[in-house]
Amino acid sequence: MHTLILFDIDGTLTRGGPAKVAFETAMVETYGTAGAVESYDFSGKTDPQIARELLMAAGLEDAVIDAGLAGLWDRYIGEIESQISENPMRLLPGVASLVEALDSEPDVALGLVTGNIIRGARVKLGSVGLSEYFEVGAYGSDHEVREYLPAIALERAFEAWGVRFPPESAVIVGDTPRDVECGKHVGARTVAVATGRIPREQLEATGADAIFDDFSDVASVIEALLP
Ligand SMILES: [Mg+2]
Repeated sequence: MHTLILFDIDGTLTRGGPAKVAFETAMVETYGTAGAVESYDFSGKTDPQIARELLMAAGLEDAVIDAGLAGLWDRYIGEIESQISENPMRLLPGVASLVEALDSEPDVALGLVTGNIIRGARVKLGSVGLSEYFEVGAYGSDHEVREYLPAIALERAFEAWGVRFPPESAVIVGDTPRDVECGKHVGARTVAVATGRIPREQLEATGADAIFDDFSDVASVIEALLP
């Protein structure tokens, strides 16, 4: 295995689904408020970062926030599981073919770098038939700060396969400037895709190594991922 490709989930592999509504409900049930969710920018942030930023802005203290987190995540996952059949996640264009093609490349290992907590990532990917492709990953539940996640994913790859991937052999794939920044932070290559909320021009300003409108041209995407 020579290349480790680390995918973000929301806006990169999938769109839609009940996560935002589930999160709001769980926040209100746990803390009595979801804060200013309507005006809040979620893009590329980790789940614990989102919760903490919203709650601190609403005047809650760190100790109160920390004390509620375990219950928050239990309620959040419960809400997603109960709503996901009515409000399913969808795979973005080209993703199913791209993941399948990469999975069959002997030199490629696949993983995740996502702000989702691990249980959220599993339920989301399971609902769109992608759960078996991503053996390793780093999640919002590993660290609130996305910049630290790629290094954690590299370590997990070593634990899983006994292979030390140098950072420059890893590729971070995501839909926001924060994805590109966390990849650059560890020295990985970066590929951005404009299927989330961030317009292409804004992704171009990040200096990502390659940018796609979507992943429907699978051959071109593979060429960018495995130069
Ligand atoms: Mg995303």
